[in-house]
Amino acid sequence: MTAASHEQSFPDLREGVRRLCAGFPGAYWQELDRDRRYPTEFVTTLASEGWLSVLIPEEYGGSGLGLAAATAVLEEVHRSGCNGGAAHAQMYTMGTLLRHGSAAQKAQYLPAVASGALRLQAFGVTEPTSGTDTTRIRTFARREGDHYVVNGQKIWISRAEHSDLMVLLVRTTAREDCAKSTDGISVLMVDMREALGNGLTIRPIRTMLNHATTELFFDDLRVPAANLIGEEGKGFRYILSGMNAERILIAAECIGDARFFIDRASAYAGTREVFGRPIGQNQGVQFPIARAYVQTTAAALAVDHAARLFDEGDPAGTEANMAKMLASEASWYAADMCVQTHGGFGFAEEYDIERKFRETRLYQVAPISTNLILSHVATHVLGLPKSF
Ligand SMILES: Cc1cc2nc3c(=O)[nH]c(=O)nc-3n(C[C@H](O)[C@H](O)[C@H](O)COP(=O)(O)OP(=O)(O)OC[C@H]3O[C@@H](n4cnc5c(N)ncnc54)[C@H](O)[C@@H]3O)c2cc1C
Repeated sequence: MTAASHEQSFPDLREGVRRLCAGFPGAYWQELDRDRRYPTEFVTTLASEGWLSVLIPEEYGGSGLGLAAATAVLEEVHRSGCNGGAAHAQMYTMGTLLRHGSAAQKAQYLPAVASGALRLQAFGVTEPTSGTDTTRIRTFARREGDHYVVNGQKIWISRAEHSDLMVLLVRTTAREDCAKSTDGISVLMVDMREALGNGLTIRPIRTMLNHATTELFFDDLRVPAANLIGEEGKGFRYILSGMNAERILIAAECIGDARFFIDRASAYAGTREVFGRPIGQNQGVQFPIARAYVQTTAAALAVDHAARLFDEGDPAGTEANMAKMLASEASWYAADMCVQTHGGFGFAEEYDIERKFRETRLYQVAPISTNLILSHVATHVLGLPKSF
């Protein structure tokens, strides 16, 4: 796919998303950012217009378009200056349910998620003591009759206060009692509306960006055993392909961010006059913009490739990771370039650049940090000795 054809893939879909985003200009995001408020109006509009259900099959009320289409949606959201972080989990979190849930669970949840009536926005994996080493999670679900009783703690669980459901990763067998460290992990669907105040406490964490992320405390939370997704103890494998989808989608958001920065920098450099000529006439200003474009174009091809493999049924783990790394680095380079191009105005709230700069920095850490991607490539692809 050429650079030009990438930007032209799914043209109607891209145009529709752009039109929606035009209703949510910079001033909307600046106000939310100041108050650290959740973009409820934006998320509700995205959901009601069907943009968050592109991955849900038509039989459950979604459009069943696949990951490549979903990447185009999120890329356009970010290129428009909006932020999909408040809503993107609604796209990929349902994958675990779709692939491993029972027929009854799918019928119960998916149509309501597709219509936007139910928000499936929370994905509870990370814990304070385990960090990236997911097999060391300690949140434990003990079976008691027809319920699980959950105790433990999660951290950085985004959108928990704005979600009706959460896909929660727990241990159902202690790590030391398992043959493999990835065994004994299970996935529960938690109904947040029932859980809150009945064993679940949510504490918001204020961060450098407006991301509605939280800490969760589980104290004898009772979850019906019927909410177990798939088989007990097999959950680690279930969430892996959801994580690959997440990485590809977030890579697409980075591409959108990078294009936002390149668009803004090109426009500004072409009009801002200093020393009697547009600053963009100086190669010292032009070249960083051109470099950002080159890096973004290459990263976008990696994202397309990973999405295509995923849509063809390949788990695409390595490609998803590599695409996320390249895209997050391209967006960070473009962000830095855009601030520099704008001089002092790059720091002014009303230009949206400082906000997007803070927002795009996240993606070199979450959902997976760059070092862990390099470690995957070094040991799983290149066969180098494992360091952990
Ligand atoms: C705003 C925000 C939103 C988030 N949303 C969610 C969410 O909704 N759900 C969820 O489950 N999680 C969420 N996360 C968590 C996120 O996925 C983790 O922060 C991320 O995976 C990194 O884990 P950690 O913070 O525990 O870092 P650590 O694992 O403690 O790592 C810290 C640093 O050390 C490096 N490092 C660690 N081990 C090694 C090694 N062996 N070799 C080389 N380098 C190493 C890492 O690369 C990283 O740079 C979110 C995080 C943030 C900041």
